Amino acid sequence: THGAHMTQRIAVIPGDGIGTEVMPEGLRVLEAAATRFGLDLDFESFDWGCGHYLREGRMMPADWKERIGGHDAILFGAVGAPDRVPDHIAIWDSIITIRREFDQYVNLRPARLMPGVPSPLANRRPGDIDFLVVRENTEGEYSSLGGRMFPGTEREFVIQESVFTRTGVDRVLRFAFELAARRPGRHLTAATKSNGISITMPYWDERLQAIAGEYPEVAWDKFHIDILCAHLVQHPDRFDVIVASNLFGDILSDLDPACTGTIGIAPSANLNPERRYPSLFEPVHGSAPDIAGRGIANPVGQIWSAALMLQHLGRDVSVWQDAADAVLRAIEAVLAEGPRTPDMGGTARTADMGRAIASHVAQAR
Ligand code: ATP
Ligand code: MG
Repeated sequence: THGAHMTQRIAVIPGDGIGTEVMPEGLRVLEAAATRFGLDLDFESFDWGCGHYLREGRMMPADWKERIGGHDAILFGAVGAPDRVPDHIAIWDSIITIRREFDQYVNLRPARLMPGVPSPLANRRPGDIDFLVVRENTEGEYSSLGGRMFPGTEREFVIQESVFTRTGVDRVLRFAFELAARRPGRHLTAATKSNGISITMPYWDERLQAIAGEYPEVAWDKFHIDILCAHLVQHPDRFDVIVASNLFGDILSDLDPACTGTIGIAPSANLNPERRYPSLFEPVHGSAPDIAGRGIANPVGQIWSAALMLQHLGRDVSVWQDAADAVLRAIEAVLAEGPRTPDMGGTARTADMGRAIASHVAQAR
């Protein structure tokens, strides 16, 4: 019953800095897609971020969860104003809190070499690099379990535990296998480090082996994180879907945009695949105070994140997937032929690039 005409309610949080400059372009392109493909998108905007913090003493209101918990998705810009609000408050009390409270246990980052974007890797062309990183987003190495003993003495020692649960590991592995099963390559690579991390990583490998049994149609392999990083630089064309724990996924998902060009174009999704809570879509870049207020930020990371949102909202309904594809084609066309913002060597402004992408979407066939 989930057709094109079901209204999807989007909570829009532009945030700070260039977040407020790239978000209007994301919305412009979504509106073009909604008109062209007959999608019913209902946007509601929330001015949460460092401005809110400076006025009210918190990044989001106390009832933030009720305010956006019933929406179908969250489109997020970026938060941070390092000269006025400490980064740990800006980030933790907004985006990290939303990810945790809405159990967005998958962080999905596509890495695709786009036309017109030079890669630092020699001899790589568009199409050579096209893979997805699935990062576990809630547990693993990023726990706050641990502490410091005998501080300030010669006997001082420090412990921080990693926590891997059967539920947490299995659900992210299943998500990754499902994703791989639906792609033409049907291949999954897992990051591990069971030769050095001798308790948790062998467990991760064991669950990988077990879950792989449920997906005989997916070919899979695994690499230690160190050699995997080397392979990604030397043979990025070999990868399709990569699944990794919180820490290893963090490392990989910063390596990818480095291999595929400017940080200004990289998108991400924080998913609660069961849809018990809204999922969140945001560009990989931050609020970029160094260029904020000048209207020159690259809007593609935000627009591509909006395309990921359409894919997610549409489930398997083809018109939503068509809309998402049209946005991606439009991004590719504009990256290839311009206009381009200064980070890509052009002279265009944020809105020029957004308008050009929206007009390609409006004419999509
Ligand atoms: P965070 O702390 O969240 O990483 P940040 O503002 O410190 O945020 P980024 O936003 O990731 O760091 O920016 C890193 C560099 O990349 C900055 O020099 C910034 O100007 C540039 N940059 C980031 N996003 C864009 C964009 N959309 N267009 C052009 N340049 C960008
Ligand atoms: Mg930064």
